[in-house]
Amino acid sequence: MKAEILAVGTELLMGQITNTNAQYISQKLNSIGIDVYYHSVVGDNSGRLKESLLNALNRCDLVIMAGGLGPTQDDLTKETVADVLEKKLVLHEESLERIKLFFDRMKREMTDNNIKQAYLPEGCTVIENNNGTAPGCIVEKDAKIVVMLPGPPKEMKPMLDDTVIPYLEQKSGYKTVSKYLRVFGIGESQLEDRIMDLVDAQKEVTIATYAKEGQVTVRLTTKCKTYEEAIFKIKPVEEEIAGRLGDNLYSTEDEELEYVASKLLIEHGITISLAESCTGGMIASRLTDVPGISKVFNRGIVSYSNEAKMENLSVSPETLEKYGAVSRQTAIEMAEGVRKTAKTDLGISVTGIAGPDGGTDQKPVGLVYVALADKSGCDCRELRLTGNRDRIRNMTTLYVFDMIRRYVLGAVRINKE
Ligand code: ATP
Ligand code: MG
Repeated sequence: MKAEILAVGTELLMGQITNTNAQYISQKLNSIGIDVYYHSVVGDNSGRLKESLLNALNRCDLVIMAGGLGPTQDDLTKETVADVLEKKLVLHEESLERIKLFFDRMKREMTDNNIKQAYLPEGCTVIENNNGTAPGCIVEKDAKIVVMLPGPPKEMKPMLDDTVIPYLEQKSGYKTVSKYLRVFGIGESQLEDRIMDLVDAQKEVTIATYAKEGQVTVRLTTKCKTYEEAIFKIKPVEEEIAGRLGDNLYSTEDEELEYVASKLLIEHGITISLAESCTGGMIASRLTDVPGISKVFNRGIVSYSNEAKMENLSVSPETLEKYGAVSRQTAIEMAEGVRKTAKTDLGISVTGIAGPDGGTDQKPVGLVYVALADKSGCDCRELRLTGNRDRIRNMTTLYVFDMIRRYVLGAVRINKE
C-alpha cells in the first residue's frame, strides 16, 4: 500500500511550527510495512486543499491528513474531503455527546461552532478523541482510504496508535512485528561488520541497524498472519545475532540500558550508592526513573568540589593534592567512601573533565574515571571520551550503567558456580 501524509495548516507553511506529525505518522506506517511515498503540506485554503487531496488520491492508496478538524472557519479538512469523495456530512450523535461531556468536564461553555466537529462523512469509521474535542475518521471509497486526524500531536498520536494502525493492519491481513536488540559497547560499523553476511542474505526477516549516542539498536522485522508466527520466524535470526554480539547485547525487549541495569540490581537485592562529580547527579536521576529502585538505591552524593569530596566521601587531601580530583586514586577513594558511609553492597563514583574548558595535555577533556567498589575491592576504569559536554556526561552515565549490568551478571554467574 502506498501512502501520502498531507498535513494541513498555514502555521506549518509559515514556519511557526515543525511538521512533527508527518515524522511520527511515517514512522508508524513504516513499522507496519506501509510505504510512505509523499509528505505534503498545504495551508488552510479550500481550493488548494482540494487540489492537494486530489493529487494525493491520484498517486496513493492511503492518504493520512492531520490538522484542520477544529471548530473554526479556517478548519476545512472534513468539508473538503466530503466534497472530493462526494459524501454528505452527517451529525454523529455519539461524538456530539462526547464533545458536550468534554466541555462539562473542563467547566467551559460550549459554543455553537463546536457542533460542527460532530459532523462527519456518511459511512465513515469514527475515531474517538480522548484528549480533545475533534473526532477523527476513516473514509473509504473505491479502494482508496482517507484518514483525518486532528493537528495537536497529543490528540493525534493516541488516535493513530490505538485506532488507525490496528485498522490498517487488519485491512492488509498481515501483522508486521519487530523485535529490537539493544547493544552497548560497540559502534555501528563494527556491529554491521559482525552481521554483514546476515544483512546481505536477509529475506523474510529484515535487519536494520540504528545508532544513537553510544548505543546501537538492531531491528528485526517480519510480516505474518499472526504475532506468534512472526515471533517464531524472527527467533532463529535473533539467536544468531545474539550469539555474535555476546555480552554487548543488553536487551532483546527494546529496554533502556539504565532500566536493564536497575532491574538487575533490584532482582538480586544488590544495594548501591553513588558519588558523582562531572555527571552532577545524572546517574542518580536516571536510576530514580526506574520504579522500585528505592529497594536498592541508598543515596547519591554530588561531590563537585574538593571540599565535598573530602567532607562527604573522606577522600584524603593528600590524594587530591598529589593526583588531582580527576584521577584513578580519587575515583577509588570516592567509591569506597560513599560505599562505607551508605553501607551498601556497591559504591560507584565518577570524576572527569566534561569540558569545554579545564583540559590539559595530561588530562584532556573527555578523560573520565569511573569506579565500582564492593566488599572485595574496587574496579576503576579510565575512559577517553570525545564530543561535547552533553555527550561526555551522557556517555559516562551509560558506561556506569553498563558497568553495573556486567557486574551483576558476573556476580550472579560466580554465585551460581
Ligand atoms: P484544533 O481543534 O486545535 O484547531 P485542528 O485539528 O484544527 O485542531 P490545527 O488547527 O491545524 O488542527 O492545528 C492545531 C495545533 O496543532 C497547531 O497549532 C499545532 O500546535 C499543532 N499541529 C498542527 N499540525 C501539526 C503538525 N503537522 N505537526 C506538529 N504539530 C501540529
Ligand atoms: Mg484548527
